[in-house]
Amino acid sequence: MSNYIVLFGSPGSGKGTQAKLLKRCLQAPHISTGDMLRERIAQGTELGFRVAARMHAGALVLDDTVNGMVAGRLGQRDAKDGFILDGYPRTTPQAQFLCEWLDERGIREVVIHLAVDYNSIIARLMGRRQCPRCGTLYNIVSRPPKREGLCDLDGEKLAIREDDREEVIRERLNAYDRQTRPVLEFYRTAGRRLTEVDASSDPPEKVFDKICQAIDVHDCAQDAR
Ligand code: ADP
Repeated sequence: MSNYIVLFGSPGSGKGTQAKLLKRCLQAPHISTGDMLRERIAQGTELGFRVAARMHAGALVLDDTVNGMVAGRLGQRDAKDGFILDGYPRTTPQAQFLCEWLDERGIREVVIHLAVDYNSIIARLMGRRQCPRCGTLYNIVSRPPKREGLCDLDGEKLAIREDDREEVIRERLNAYDRQTRPVLEFYRTAGRRLTEVDASSDPPEKVFDKICQAIDVHDCAQDAR
């Protein structure tokens, strides 16, 4: 088994949800490039300013920017014994960069591909809501909050992410097809550990069980519930 996990999948495939479950189970940091970029924008940093327009249009941020940010994060102490990467790599040059970074340190990662069909993805992204305060994710169809529009944990008004609007969703899915899907072929050809999990119709807990089986972790699936 490996504690170095790369969660791979299209927007809306459930990477964020599974990453949160894995984080609790593996005691490893959840590193989401989307969250990191949104933080930079909220903090008003120079990097945030540079990436905001691309992100809000549903386009990918440039490889050098993301690679530098990820290398800095992976080099931190808490990621030494494991990490859960979510949303990275998203292009073949990013995958090459990551493989070199890991190889230089003798780290063997496992890539988990969350496979979801196109229609489920659209439905999930359109229904997605998030608490701006604590980050909890909801879906108005499959995981509604107890009180409409309000977070179960802190009562905060739920928000729709800037890029979860229909025209932006289409652009993000285009970017996935053009730039991200080929990364799977890169991993296959490079002979890295790649495992596919069907994440189309099962609830998150079931998908998590399948991930645990795939990475050979057996005492975690129950804890995560
Ligand atoms: P989702 O996977 O649902 O699209 P994310 O939060 O992972 O959501 O990403 C949101 C946006 O952040 C992407 O559309 C893109 O603009 C930017 N982004 C995140 N990760 C990367 C990355 N590895 N490379 C380039 N852009 C990225």
